[in-house]
Amino acid sequence: MLRLKNITKWYNHEQALKNINIEIKTGRLTVLIGPSGCGKSTLLKLIMGLEYADKGTIEWDDNEVKVDSLMEKRRQIGYVIQEGGLFPHLTAEKNITLLACFLGWQKDKISNRLKILSELVQLPVDLLSKYPLQLSGGQRQRVSLTRALMLDPEILLLDEPLGALDPMVRADLQKELKTIFQRLSRTVVLVTHDMGEAAYFADEIVLMREGEIIQQGSLSDLINRPKDRFVTRFIMAQKNPLNNIVGEI
Ligand code: ADP
Ligand code: MG
Repeated sequence: MLRLKNITKWYNHEQALKNINIEIKTGRLTVLIGPSGCGKSTLLKLIMGLEYADKGTIEWDDNEVKVDSLMEKRRQIGYVIQEGGLFPHLTAEKNITLLACFLGWQKDKISNRLKILSELVQLPVDLLSKYPLQLSGGQRQRVSLTRALMLDPEILLLDEPLGALDPMVRADLQKELKTIFQRLSRTVVLVTHDMGEAAYFADEIVLMREGEIIQQGSLSDLINRPKDRFVTRFIMAQKNPLNNIVGEI
């Protein structure tokens, strides 16, 4: 269990996170959702240790994550950053294996792991020698995901992994990702601003607005027991837009 307690984060004079309390349960898929700028990416960066909280603590299995244990913890977290974040001057394979090489893994261990993961995420081997710019958006996201899984992390953080994809590629990858998550049975935190995507993936949804958590619960909690008018408005605003068009025709 990952527990964020009273987390506050400022960027200069702007408060990005306001006294956040969340429990991220082991082996479950938690979706962070909310309008753009509400603090979703900042929250993931704090978990990853790429940003620091001004106040509050993060506990991992009841132990506080401190600066001296951060590097070790970071290796147990796979992170797919918004827009993929691949190094453009490295091939897909080099991107994926960079950290394992840095940690001195044996060549055999690296190639075995790469083979298992390529099959899992359905990444054709002939793409491994290509550079990110030579890949499609969907292929790049498969590479980013493979890189995040390379060290077999306990926790997987995904920041809008499907956000930049066109709708058909997105729908296909959604299905595949769900299968991958089920096979991995790891703790996953997925960020999206799309309620349909949240509903599709989540065991637990955390709805945020302007740096605050408005509600944490299942989809049915949010629909049937909204804690605030914003919860219902957010869900209703994202109803299938075709419903409106069809109604007008
Ligand atoms: P989200 O991912 O939900 O869109 P972010 O976590 O990226 O939101 O941003 C939350 C708020 O913090 C926004 O108002 C954003 O402008 C601000 N912010 C994020 N990163 C920085 C930064 N590095 N410097 C200054 N302000 C930032
Ligand atoms: Mg973001």
